[in-house]
Amino acid sequence: MDVSRASRFINAGKPRGIRVSFEFFPPKTAEMEQSLWEAINRLAPLEPNFVSVTYGAGGSTRERTHATVKRILAETMLTPAAHLTCVAATRAEIDTVIGAYAQAGVRHIVALRGDPLGGAGETYAPHPGGYRNAADLVAGIKRLTDLEVSVSAYPEKHPDSPSVAADIDMLKAKVDAGATRAITQFFFENDLYFRYLDRVRAAGIHIPIVPGILPVQNFKMTKTFAARCGASVPAWLADRFDGLDDDAATRKLIAAAVAAEQVLDLVDHGVTDFHFYTMNRADLVYAICHLLGLRPAALERHRPEPPHPHPLPSGERERA
Ligand SMILES: Cc1cc2nc3c(=O)[nH]c(=O)nc-3n(C[C@H](O)[C@H](O)[C@H](O)COP(=O)(O)OP(=O)(O)OC[C@H]3O[C@@H](n4cnc5c(N)ncnc54)[C@H](O)[C@@H]3O)c2cc1C
Repeated sequence: MDVSRASRFINAGKPRGIRVSFEFFPPKTAEMEQSLWEAINRLAPLEPNFVSVTYGAGGSTRERTHATVKRILAETMLTPAAHLTCVAATRAEIDTVIGAYAQAGVRHIVALRGDPLGGAGETYAPHPGGYRNAADLVAGIKRLTDLEVSVSAYPEKHPDSPSVAADIDMLKAKVDAGATRAITQFFFENDLYFRYLDRVRAAGIHIPIVPGILPVQNFKMTKTFAARCGASVPAWLADRFDGLDDDAATRKLIAAAVAAEQVLDLVDHGVTDFHFYTMNRADLVYAICHLLGLRPAALERHRPEPPHPHPLPSGERERA
């Protein structure tokens, strides 16, 4: 029996084509801004493929999303991707946002329908004169620009969707409109992802379906969040956090172990790209990336040498 595990052979400094991206949300206060930037600065040396910044429900963070993306562009070497939703805005308003991003140097948008104004679970009604859904928004972005567009995917189906098949039809419409990557909602059972992937490929969709990984920073919050977005929380996961409500240090170790187990199993099944929901905190994500073989020092070696200063004429070299 072959018991070799690819993940055991990830060597530091040789990330075997593993690519990661990190998702952040725009901060509301100066204190949150500081912790966001601590997280960005800690994770940046891992040279993610891109970092994305979410767009608050109902477009509530439009300015803050924009400001965060602009600061990433101005102060780091990272490639930002700006999330954008169709909610509570006309096409013209959204087109202005798209234009402003392109103007600012953003090359990548994560295009979403967004949740209804009343919150997830309410019936979604497109804004009159707005983009109807995510596929319509992707088409709008592609009509205006040549920006890269990523979209969402739901291994356990979106709660609004009558079936997985309807969900995959929507994914197909988004791909047909020009999306070139899908990022999944978080999940904890890898089998759900693999089954979904089989169905997506069978539907003739061949773009990367990047697993969205949520390290469990806070189990109670994760459960509430999962219930809202239709992700299941298996009993074994609840069991692992059971009795640790007052023990933050052990919770953190368990969270790292759970996420490590998940990503290494995905690696063993050939997955190379991962999108991390960081919740604006670096520590767990940094540790998991380390397990994936990513090292800032090793990556540093791949950076081009800085240009040499002009060679001095030979006589001057001695004097210099
Ligand atoms: C990677 C990722 C990033 C996200 N980032 C953000 C963000 O920055 N800001 C934010 O507000 N939200 C974000 N969300 C959440 C997302 O906006 C919600 O899940 C929203 O409800 C659906 O938007 P979507 O683009 O994912 O949906 P879509 O892909 O358009 O639709 C998802 C499913 O719902 C079905 N559906 C859509 N509309 C209807 C309808 N009217 N009736 C019946 N079925 C329908 C579709 O058929 C499809 O199966 C994100 C989700 C993911 C997975």
